[in-house]
Amino acid sequence: MTYPNLIIDLQKLRDNARLLTNLCHRNNIDPVGVTKVTCGDPRVAQAMLDGGMRMLAESRLENALRLREAGINAPLLLLRLPMISQADQVVRIFQCSLNSELKTIEALNAAAAKAGLIHEVILMIDMGDLREGIWPDQLDDNIQALASLQHIRLLGLGTNLTCYGGVIPTRDNLGRLLEYNRRAARFYPHPLPVISGGNSSSLPLLLKGHLPPVTQLRLGESIVLGRETVDRQPVPGAHLDCFQLQAEVIELRQKPSIPIGEIGQDAFGGTPVFQDRGLHSRAIVALGRQDVAIDSLEPPLGVEILGASSDHLLLDVSKYSSPLQVGDLLTFSPGYGALLAAMTSSYVSKEYRH
Ligand SMILES: *Cc1c(COP(=O)(O)O)cnc(C)c1O
Repeated sequence: MTYPNLIIDLQKLRDNARLLTNLCHRNNIDPVGVTKVTCGDPRVAQAMLDGGMRMLAESRLENALRLREAGINAPLLLLRLPMISQADQVVRIFQCSLNSELKTIEALNAAAAKAGLIHEVILMIDMGDLREGIWPDQLDDNIQALASLQHIRLLGLGTNLTCYGGVIPTRDNLGRLLEYNRRAARFYPHPLPVISGGNSSSLPLLLKGHLPPVTQLRLGESIVLGRETVDRQPVPGAHLDCFQLQAEVIELRQKPSIPIGEIGQDAFGGTPVFQDRGLHSRAIVALGRQDVAIDSLEPPLGVEILGASSDHLLLDVSKYSSPLQVGDLLTFSPGYGALLAAMTSSYVSKEYRH
């Protein structure tokens, strides 16, 4: 085994996918399993499918290709707005994509015509979070333009919240999305059956029974980490430990907490500040910013993260309950940013448990 090592519990992922699928189905919602935080890991994708998800979503072409090459045949939804330069590949790999630019949809139409396909589109509306989406007053013009594209099938409207602006889904903003969908249906020659009502941040509203009747949710973090994304509260019944990160202790010493000497900048150009905790037990583990996002890493009980450089993580282990030795492993719980980095880092080995 090499370290750092990310343990991926496929059974727990399957359980979480099943729990969320059942919750969605009880509310007439189609859940879409988002694999992007795992870089399109085929085994994670399969666990989502085994848990009942019928469609998967990815933000990148490379990840989608990885899924296809591993034999994952489920329909794929492209989450990030397509690049015009990738239009040909997008229509061949993804059945459907989220879009907000007419010029791009026209390029997808041309690519789909060339490939002899119909490409499905969900038109994104910016409901205030200020990431992707058209402004609602451009709705009528956009729908009319889409109606003339022979190889594009508009499925309905969608929105994405709580990503850039931190705007929370509410009965009001999602209710307005439903209204826009009804309005759009007046300008489009086919029914618009899909209302894609957001990501894991829509779950608190769903759990309270207050979610307007959207038909689709795109769920990533709630499956992989078991939490909604408004307050990061656990989804009742979900596993919170599908991913665990092991790292090895490479130094263990009693050291003071205030550096000795004149203080300039740290390795990343920041000016460090230190809290005097006296002489204490410190550990260095072989894990750094090249492997994880330190801010989103939860240490084991009794361990405090003091800081990190590219390859070293510094810990106060004076309150750790068991005796530690150099060569021992410590196990951390990655948050979303840490998981994203660990999955992306080629230095982190991945171990699957069934
Ligand atoms: C990443 C993403 C999601 C999934 O978000 P989670 O918070 O992980 O559930 C859904 N929709 C879009 C457009 C995304 O980019």
